[in-house]
Amino acid sequence: MEQEKIGTKATRSNIIETLYRRGYINGQQISITGLGENIIETLIRYSPEIIEVKLTRDLEEELDDIEEGKKGSDKVFNDVVEELKPILAKFKLSEVEIGKALSRAIKGRPSVGSNGACKVCNRDKIDGSVFCARHNIAYMNIEAGFQKWRYALGYQWREYLEKLSKNTGTGVYAKEIIKDIIG
Ligand SMILES: [Zn+2]
Repeated sequence: MEQEKIGTKATRSNIIETLYRRGYINGQQISITGLGENIIETLIRYSPEIIEVKLTRDLEEELDDIEEGKKGSDKVFNDVVEELKPILAKFKLSEVEIGKALSRAIKGRPSVGSNGACKVCNRDKIDGSVFCARHNIAYMNIEAGFQKWRYALGYQWREYLEKLSKNTGTGVYAKEIIKDIIG
């Protein structure tokens, strides 16, 4: 959150605590749970605007403006309502679908209209990926890390994967993917 410049010191710890309590994240080295992933996946599909970092950042900047006396609270309130209206209207339209998707997630059942199995495990793969939601997130993290280390240390893809697989901080899902790639 700090990296994305959202939340204040006061709200961040509170948000993280709420995420733990609802079972969206777990562990000491905070990782997202299957339920958390399913919720994100559902929101990406039906209401990507809601999870956009920009929205939160905009709203917080507006709040700063009130605090610094740059804008009146009525003006900010009206702007925020106008910004949220179309997003919430769209969300409302998909309410039933969102509800169904989330209840499937909670029950842990495969989703309807499954389009094949994950390359690594037997869970349903998600659209536009060869992986299930968990392995897809793990793979995206592996790739993001590679971009960073390639420039910093000149690592090649395979060399990077080998190092990553031996690292104790690497998650289970990421290790499963690496094993699948390098054998
Ligand atoms: Zn998988």
